Amino acid sequence: MSADPLPPLREVIAASGLSAKKSLGQNFLLDLNITRKIARAVPNLENAHVLEVGPGPGGLARGLLLEGAAKVTAIEKDARCIPALEQIQEHYPERFCYHIGDALEADEKDLLGEGNLKPQIAANLPYNIASAFLVKWLEGEPWPPFWHSLTVMLQKEVALRLVAGPGTRTYGRLSVLAQWRSTPRILFHIPPEAFTPKPKVTSSVIQIIPSHPAAGLTGKEISAFTQTLFGQRRKILRNVLRPFGETVGDVLATEGINPGLRPENLSVEEICRLAKKLIN
Ligand code: SAM
Repeated sequence: MSADPLPPLREVIAASGLSAKKSLGQNFLLDLNITRKIARAVPNLENAHVLEVGPGPGGLARGLLLEGAAKVTAIEKDARCIPALEQIQEHYPERFCYHIGDALEADEKDLLGEGNLKPQIAANLPYNIASAFLVKWLEGEPWPPFWHSLTVMLQKEVALRLVAGPGTRTYGRLSVLAQWRSTPRILFHIPPEAFTPKPKVTSSVIQIIPSHPAAGLTGKEISAFTQTLFGQRRKILRNVLRPFGETVGDVLATEGINPGLRPENLSVEEICRLAKKLIN
């Protein structure tokens, strides 16, 4: 295990006056044992070009580099992090670079550029917009995407939604978006005490490796369909699907789906079948 050559993260934060901003979802990981554990979960790290969203003071970036990531490119919205990120770049000039900008607006492919390394995405996501990032990545086209894996930390509650099955309270749009063409997994949980400042909730590291081929639907189509479907999850299907026109009853009958069920009772496969028939 290589030793960390840079100053402790607490010192880095103090030196750059990086008081955590709630509006940016800033809950920092200062223990490199934890960030290194997350880094080790990224597949084929030694051949990876990792895109890190929101490096903050650099805990996860340093974990990735210490664990042997071939290259790390980070994008951070908060310019106050520049001194901390510069320090990492000075130490790893060939393996680390960063951009200041909004990762929600950024084109990940442009950020990583061309090369022979395998693109992987890793992040300790800002809690307040973790779902927005997931939707952005999961509704992307083409599929499989250019990146090979997504290894990110987010609220446990969101992680449970990603892996939930039909008929459960947590099953919804995110479950379908994640499961219709990949197999999301929860790798491990991290307690609130690991973060500075300490959040109110437990966090989980999840991993998504794109697998299933697209089933005759685009990401945007299934994204819009599930938004309608789960926007009114207490209503029965006959009513929720009314905006799709008069053929809804016939389509449900042909598919053998009871119109009196609620959206949460449908399997991912049934939702895709319905979307295909009703959208096209
Ligand atoms: N990676 C660091 C760590 O693990 O300690 C920081 C993680 S913190 C939970 C989330 C980071 O994402 C913050 O540094 C925050 O400023 C940054 N951030 C928030 N919104 C962002 C956006 N739209 N684009 C890029 N970075 C963002």
